[in-house]
Amino acid sequence: SKIYTRDYWESVLSGLKPEGRHFIDGAHRAAASGATFTRIRPMDGKPGAELARGNAADIDAAVVAARAAFESGVWRKKEPLEKKGIMLKWAELIRAHGEELAMLETIDVGKPVMASLGVDVRLCADGIQFYGEMIDKMYDEIAPTGPNARALVRKVPLGVVGAITPWNYPMIIDAWKLGPAIAAGNSVVLKPAEQSSLSAIRLAELAFEAGLPAGVFNVVTGYGEETGKPLALHMDVDMIAFTGSTEVGKLIMGYAAQSNVKRVALELGGKSPLVVFEDADLDAAASAAAWGCFYNSGETCHASTRLIVQRSVQEKLIQKIEAVTRSDIALRHPLDPSAQIGALIEEEHMNKVLSMIAAGEKEGARRAFGAERVLSETGGYYVSPGVFVDMTNDMSLARQEIFGPVLAAIPFDTEEEALTIANDTIYGLAGAVFTKDMDRAHRLSEAIHAGTVWINTYDMSNFATPFGGFRQSGFGRDRSVHAIDKYCDYKTIWQQFG
Ligand code: NAD
Repeated sequence: SKIYTRDYWESVLSGLKPEGRHFIDGAHRAAASGATFTRIRPMDGKPGAELARGNAADIDAAVVAARAAFESGVWRKKEPLEKKGIMLKWAELIRAHGEELAMLETIDVGKPVMASLGVDVRLCADGIQFYGEMIDKMYDEIAPTGPNARALVRKVPLGVVGAITPWNYPMIIDAWKLGPAIAAGNSVVLKPAEQSSLSAIRLAELAFEAGLPAGVFNVVTGYGEETGKPLALHMDVDMIAFTGSTEVGKLIMGYAAQSNVKRVALELGGKSPLVVFEDADLDAAASAAAWGCFYNSGETCHASTRLIVQRSVQEKLIQKIEAVTRSDIALRHPLDPSAQIGALIEEEHMNKVLSMIAAGEKEGARRAFGAERVLSETGGYYVSPGVFVDMTNDMSLARQEIFGPVLAAIPFDTEEEALTIANDTIYGLAGAVFTKDMDRAHRLSEAIHAGTVWINTYDMSNFATPFGGFRQSGFGRDRSVHAIDKYCDYKTIWQQFG
């Protein structure tokens, strides 16, 4: 109910002094080497925070602290009710510091501050709360043995979990890893993306303030090669929970194999299909297609980037998508409360998106609207949402993950053809079907290879539903009660009695 203005957010920004050092064993630490790096703010291209540039020595210090906390039992052996209380307090502190966290996320990522507050902060707090609430509701098992034996099947934490996260939804994805890993009793070393470390550092401070013991949650900032790699290669890390590109996900599997056979969970890229049949509610489909692809400026792993549309309604649907985009999806400066989408993550990424668009046009992709650099006078990195039509699924804009606000519309004639196109991708993260024919909707929702398939909607979810992909979108699921399983292992304790 609070009324937010641009001036208000400018005053929050000017009052902010972001902490850029690692958080290890309950305290801030500069990089062992003393090195730092400067984050450039995507909203205006100005220098933002100064961050510790970690390397293998910092990773090792964090892993040592995490291991010591785990072995001491200072967290995992606490009463479940007490652990729950600490995690719920942490969630409360995240909400209480919501505006500050939202601003940190916005200066790092360039997304509208109102979205950071209303979506990212909220879902981060909800995630920590969801797993906190599970702590005193997790039961172990007794296996069916003979009458003279009792076999307890205990679910035990792994030890030290390394989390490596991307820059598009930093706080949300951090919570997806931290919540279940810590609720299960593990210690965590988080390596956030070099573009977006500020919210992670603040989350660690708030966890410590809530009562999470020192060493249970550590943050080491820095570049992927310099910090992520030594974390994934570390001999005393039991698991890596990774979200990021398929390319780096493959490296992570290699690092695990080269070191201590640590387990890995990978949430990777996508090129998700949204299939629209001519009998669909075209207004609903247009809105879902526009928001599904353009929200967060298309920097979303499960963005609906391939619009597979029955040829007879392609033109009409594209007109509706353009109308929704122009009227509802306002691209503005991220501190403007009316902005729905903001800047891309950095100049290099913007240039990559623009060059993919140019390459697509060279191949013959026909632009219906948008997909151009805009607001360059701000100094920031903005690309308008845009659609290409009459595409075929072999064109680069339909195959490559662009991670920008670019929608490829691919016409089809028959249901069989639609399904073939939908599944003709290396990915399998998400998909959707729009039709009034429920038999067809269910047929396709079964047949589309994806971790989530929506019917007549897009991007609806809550914490009760698992999230993750098939094929080269990775394996292992975030969210839901099932996410805890991957941070645990089973241990059998067999007792014989006579
Ligand atoms: P990225 O793979 O470049 O980086 C992800 C993380 O890995 C960062 O923290 C980075 O520093 C680190 N990293 C980079 N190289 C490394 C190396 N050699 N060893 C260890 N760590 C390394 O991805 P990004 O550009 O930050 O994020 C965009 C990608 O993430 C997209 O492909 C997107 O689809 C994917 N993503 C997937 C999901 C999902 O849940 N499936 C969610 C968000 C983003």
